[in-house]
Amino acid sequence: MSNKQKRFFLTEEEIPTQWYNIQADMPNKPLPPLNPKTKQPMAAEDLYPIFAKELCHQELNTTDSWIDIPEEVRDMYKYYRSTPLVRAYGLEKALGTPAHIYFKNESVSPVGSHKLNSALPQAYYCKKEGVTNVTTETGAGQWGCALSYAAKVFGLEAAVYQVKISYEQKPYRRSIMQSYGAQVTASPSMSTRAGKDVLTKDPNNQGSLGTAISEAVELAMTTPNCKYVLGSVLNHVALHQTIIGLEAEKQMEKAGEYPDIVIGCFGGGSNFGGISFPFMRHNIKDGKKTRFIAAEPASCPKLTHGVFQYDFGDLSGLTPLLPMYTLGHNFMPANIHAGGLRYHGAGMIISQLLKDGYMEAADVKQTETFKAGLLFSKCEGIIPAPESNHAIAVAIREALKCKETGEEKVILFNLSGHGLIDMAAYDQYLSGSLQDYEVTDEEVTKNIHELEKII
Ligand SMILES: *Cc1c(COP(=O)(O)O)cnc(C)c1O
Repeated sequence: MSNKQKRFFLTEEEIPTQWYNIQADMPNKPLPPLNPKTKQPMAAEDLYPIFAKELCHQELNTTDSWIDIPEEVRDMYKYYRSTPLVRAYGLEKALGTPAHIYFKNESVSPVGSHKLNSALPQAYYCKKEGVTNVTTETGAGQWGCALSYAAKVFGLEAAVYQVKISYEQKPYRRSIMQSYGAQVTASPSMSTRAGKDVLTKDPNNQGSLGTAISEAVELAMTTPNCKYVLGSVLNHVALHQTIIGLEAEKQMEKAGEYPDIVIGCFGGGSNFGGISFPFMRHNIKDGKKTRFIAAEPASCPKLTHGVFQYDFGDLSGLTPLLPMYTLGHNFMPANIHAGGLRYHGAGMIISQLLKDGYMEAADVKQTETFKAGLLFSKCEGIIPAPESNHAIAVAIREALKCKETGEEKVILFNLSGHGLIDMAAYDQYLSGSLQDYEVTDEEVTKNIHELEKII
């Protein structure tokens, strides 16, 4: 065992100084976002009312493959980066697989997930442009925690709309946000028109990411010096998250390996894109044949069961129209515990890459994900976030295929976060009361049909 290295790190000097912008290398660029009223393509300037200017330009940059990470952001990355690349010897042994399984451990960030990788630059660019307040939505609370901390670091006020069901089910995430000084409101709330509309129709509405986004966007558009920030889906978020894959590439090199399969769980695509895009560039440019698999819940399966078309990012239709694999912006997902994966659409880059065959997707039922997560925790010691359990479940599926064929494939997955604040979910699984939900193609077709009348 002694000559088998378990964890691979980078020195501070080796941490990448640029993010990778896959848009520049994509043979087919993502289709442009459209103005919801005129249906005309939007330029970066058209997005200024909602987002910080620099982020608008990053969003639509299809020419520069590499974007410098500002020094102030690099200084903050050093608080927790590089994150370890870990060879999962324990899991390999338990599965009896010849596969080499590696995971990139993003759960070591101060807030417990990869979300901080984008919260820091977003807060930084807002501050630099004279913004004083930022607002956002959060589901399970991971993004809200990351943004609350990043806002504090760069001296901004943060207002977070948290989906009501999570606000009640995950009180500690709310406490974390408040500890960093953020103002947290359960959504739907009576503080916005979007929230009032939902509550007057349905006073017991438990909220959704779509509604919470509407509330935050409305606040940003009606408050001076206030910008909206988003933790997933958009191109600039995936750009910032490429720090994960760029580090992993250097760390895999230290391990003397290159991945045959890269896996990430999938909400809007930021951690999956983050670990995948740097490796995918070698498929696009150098003819490598790595497989990329996005692991999504069977209860919210936009990549495996959705349709590719323009749709809104939120419930009220305030956001630009985005070209995406979607279940329809009016889709109300079941209350699975992987709150971060309960979103109706996929990011624009990912949607184009899936359409063009550069990646695959797999859907997983909730009980399979918890079974996988618990095996992982027994073998590797870390209790994963319910979201990350989806990636682990697919990694295990692939490792078991290798066991059958005897192939020594190299599998890399992203551990997007830890689950220490999600133990209520584990309690449910352990007591046998956790349910599976599955969405049928029929349900999706019905939902999309309603949508076609709008667009
Ligand atoms: C938010 C979140 C996700 C899903 O978001 P992506 O943008 O798809 O990465 C996955 N895992 C964790 C731990 C999260 O907090």
